[in-house]
Amino acid sequence: MRPNRLIYLDHHATTPMDPRVLAAMRPWWEENFANPHSVEHALGRAAEEAVETAREQVAELIGAEPREVIFTSGATEANNIAIKGAARFAGISAGSETRGGQDSPRRVITLATEHKCVLESVRDLGAEGFEPVILPVRPDGLLDLEVLRAALQTPTLLVSVMAVNNETGIIQDLAAIGALVKEAGALFHTDAAQASGRIPLDVNEIHADLMSVTAHKIYGPKGVGALYVRRRPRVRLAPLFSGGGQERGLRSGTLPAPLIVGFGEAARIALAEGTLDAGRIAGQRQILLDGLKAAIPGLRVNGSMEARVAGNLNLTFPGSVDAQSLLAALPDLCLSTGSACSSAEIAPSYVLGAMGIPEAEARATLRVGLGRFTSPAEAEQAATLIGSAWRGLVAQQNAAE
Ligand SMILES: *Cc1c(COP(=O)(O)O)cnc(C)c1O
Repeated sequence: MRPNRLIYLDHHATTPMDPRVLAAMRPWWEENFANPHSVEHALGRAAEEAVETAREQVAELIGAEPREVIFTSGATEANNIAIKGAARFAGISAGSETRGGQDSPRRVITLATEHKCVLESVRDLGAEGFEPVILPVRPDGLLDLEVLRAALQTPTLLVSVMAVNNETGIIQDLAAIGALVKEAGALFHTDAAQASGRIPLDVNEIHADLMSVTAHKIYGPKGVGALYVRRRPRVRLAPLFSGGGQERGLRSGTLPAPLIVGFGEAARIALAEGTLDAGRIAGQRQILLDGLKAAIPGLRVNGSMEARVAGNLNLTFPGSVDAQSLLAALPDLCLSTGSACSSAEIAPSYVLGAMGIPEAEARATLRVGLGRFTSPAEAEQAATLIGSAWRGLVAQQNAAE
């Protein structure tokens, strides 16, 4: 399906499935297709057991108990359930106790660089009487803890801060952020879609009450994810869907056993091999970056290089070249200008804007995402191709002037 010459450097948008994941899923499509909730017969019980094994594997990856893992269709859904579910539950319970809920905090805090599904969920709550607060980030992409501390002076219901940014790969200091949030008595949610499987992540170390993860960013199948919901102390959520009451009433609907089995296997591999992966991927990234720096004087990496996942580079090209033209000149590379959801938009990245990067520079920016199967040869070739495409564009511009 994929012509061999194509080099895939878009691992933030999605990852290929690990062949071991596909192998683990296969019997649950072909041999046992039963509904895992059909516990009255043998096939249903076998499917249920497979789902529960996967739940253990996903829980282990994030340091949770299996009972704290709620399967969803992905991180978008998990983020919506976490943010809207927590706010609405607090609103409802406050309403019933105090008639109007004057005592329940209404503030919901998040970051300007969050994924659209978090930002929009928080903004949606504004229409329901909650108070959305969108915090800025520093130029290096990190949240200033003093800014958070100040925002928490007002009683707060929930804080949602992503673990790893999907455009810049910036890793927030969740342990410190979580500690501040808990000190203020608020709930702490993190969107860990880009973090799980890429960096070590433990719900207790970061003081998370709620955490969203997704299979297709960790070499698992698309269409399945999970929400971690802390049990001690118990976090209460209002479900978004009405239905059969599956997943402890938080997410009704038949569980997709084959996808969940694949998610479990992907989580198992990520836990066993994540550190290895990160070391190897960082090596390929260095090859790519060294090649690019040699070919493109003045190339800039946006955001902190230290607090960044191994596979990411967010690059602003000198000479005011247009990133879209650069992509057009690179037909053999699968690359993007920003997040997959917003790269179809004409507007430049709001994530880079929040880091203080001017619009003209944001338009000259590419996101590079290397992954588990990126080879040193591919990294080297990508550097050569990008270098010559850039030189070509600059030469064209000079000729036109
Ligand atoms: C991919 C991604 C999502 C959405 O996950 P889906 O499983 O595709 O819904 C949410 N947040 C971040 C940071 C992501 O990278």
